[in-house]
Amino acid sequence: MESITIGVLTISDTCSKDKTQDKSGPKLRDLVHESFANARVKENIVPDDKELIQGQLRRWIDDEDLRVILTTGGTGFAPRDVTPEATKPLLDKECPQLSLVITLESLKKTRFAALSRGLCGIAGNTLILNFPGSVKAVTECFETVRDLLPHALHLIGDEVSLVRKTHAEVQGSAPNRHICPHKTGAGTDSDRNSPFPMLPVQEVLSLIFGTVKRTNLDHLWQLNSPVNIPPFRASIKDGYAMKSTGFSGSKRVLGCIAAGDAPNSSPLAEDECFKINTGAPLPLEADCVVQVEDTKLLQRDKHGKESLVDIMVEPQAGLDVRPVGHDLSIKDRIFPGPDPSPVVVKSLLASVGSRMTVPKPRVAIVSTGSELLSPRDQPVLGKIYDSNTTMLVELLLYFGFDCMHTSVLSDSFEQTKESLSDLFEVVDFVICSGGVSMGDKDFVKPVLEELQFELHCGRVNMKPGKPLTFASRQNKYFFGLPGNPVSAFVTFHLFALPAIRWAAGWDRHQCTLAVVNVKLLNDISLDGRPEFVRASVISKSGELYASVNGDQISSRLQSIVGADVLVHLPARTSNPDRHLAKAGEVFPASVLRYDFISKYE
Ligand code: AMP
Ligand code: MG
Repeated sequence: MESITIGVLTISDTCSKDKTQDKSGPKLRDLVHESFANARVKENIVPDDKELIQGQLRRWIDDEDLRVILTTGGTGFAPRDVTPEATKPLLDKECPQLSLVITLESLKKTRFAALSRGLCGIAGNTLILNFPGSVKAVTECFETVRDLLPHALHLIGDEVSLVRKTHAEVQGSAPNRHICPHKTGAGTDSDRNSPFPMLPVQEVLSLIFGTVKRTNLDHLWQLNSPVNIPPFRASIKDGYAMKSTGFSGSKRVLGCIAAGDAPNSSPLAEDECFKINTGAPLPLEADCVVQVEDTKLLQRDKHGKESLVDIMVEPQAGLDVRPVGHDLSIKDRIFPGPDPSPVVVKSLLASVGSRMTVPKPRVAIVSTGSELLSPRDQPVLGKIYDSNTTMLVELLLYFGFDCMHTSVLSDSFEQTKESLSDLFEVVDFVICSGGVSMGDKDFVKPVLEELQFELHCGRVNMKPGKPLTFASRQNKYFFGLPGNPVSAFVTFHLFALPAIRWAAGWDRHQCTLAVVNVKLLNDISLDGRPEFVRASVISKSGELYASVNGDQISSRLQSIVGADVLVHLPARTSNPDRHLAKAGEVFPASVLRYDFISKYE
């Protein structure tokens, strides 16, 4: 358990007058120290007075941020016993099962335990446990909850990695035994909660980056250019090439040099010039170009070709000439820095005549569901058109990756197993949609286990996209996106795309979508989970506003129409009370499109 501070509050009229009478408080303090090496204890004594008890509890909860408060005393039936009444109004959540465990355990020792009214509950991030007043009772009660405390605290603080660690310890090698109060269950007939802990988005991303092998592109960034760009002195303008030692005035035009012509080596006098086009090689004896705008045509020969021009500005050495290797010199690095964007890599390699190819991750798109109908087929009762295959293929292409293969599978364990097994022979990534929820036809996770994949994540604390699954086996990676089209859309952007970019050698901060701040145009009710809301962006005098795209139900694909960003909304909280994201509030938003502003006002 990490370093925490635990409050021990003795509640007793007698002890508040004479501290030496307090035995239970010091006993609890000692028990805490014995049990948790890195726990600090704060102690106080207050009389059986509701206001004074609440005052002390509030200070510890709000000002001093204590993680646990153990009270002793004031839980009985006497008129002055008001500890539960003082505690209750402060609680955001009651934990009656914790009280029950304490009572059941205490009842084994004495039937008088039935006369204790102690409460257990959570106020903010603080767990409060009311214990009875006697030394014997506090000892027994503390021992009953001692082992539960670390796990409870991690859950309250949403410290998921520690929660998972605790789960792993509790579960040992038999994960199905564990039943956890926060709905991580066995997934069996008697405990139908998913056995996968609900991980925060950031933790899933860390898992992905920690698991997927990144292609090392260092050799690419260190490549030297085999050529100069330009390979000859090139004209920057359409104009006339001449010697800068000559002056302005009329010059004879010896001929025309077009882009693609070989460099002209004819002798050139100071009162002569060549007509030249942008990108054409300068004649060997010329050292500058005067743009056509600064000249006047004086004469044409009998064939209509220019023969005499007036050069109206003084020629300067090097004027409008790109020297050899100006843009890229032979032996210099082709890439001034790493940038794995396919547009950048391919075009720079092409510019130096390199035939080198940079391999991209090999990706297959798989859609599961016996209800799926190809968009080319006639409607069939009970079936729906498969939109995910098309959407995911298009998304891959949009972000510069290729789709090597697509499959549409029915909800069959055997077919799914066979197809995935075959596919992983030839691809690195399978991006699959559907079949990862809790239905009895959701075979994807069992198939992955059968194929010896390690399931890193089976649930994410987000909306939409909760059942997102990520699994790997050596250098093969599987993303199980939920089947609802919007969930598949959101989870592709947030998880599958970063993984593919990472595999392709992108830097970590470039793998996830760019994030901008947007101001909400409308109020939005917050969900119990952090939500990624599709919204259009409107730029008003340079400030970005987000307008939510109608009903956000995860089956309604229309919400991706005009979706420029995914606004990150936090989960609602009861303490502090926050159920609404209000119009005018600013939230981060992941940018979905290159052209992400729908409207300018
Ligand atoms: P599942 O994740 O398989 O439980 O599917 C959740 C919902 O998404 C169901 O209503 C499916 O019919 C729907 N769905 C699954 N796959 C697709 C798909 N490829 N295209 C459109 N809807 C789908
Ligand atoms: Mg399905």
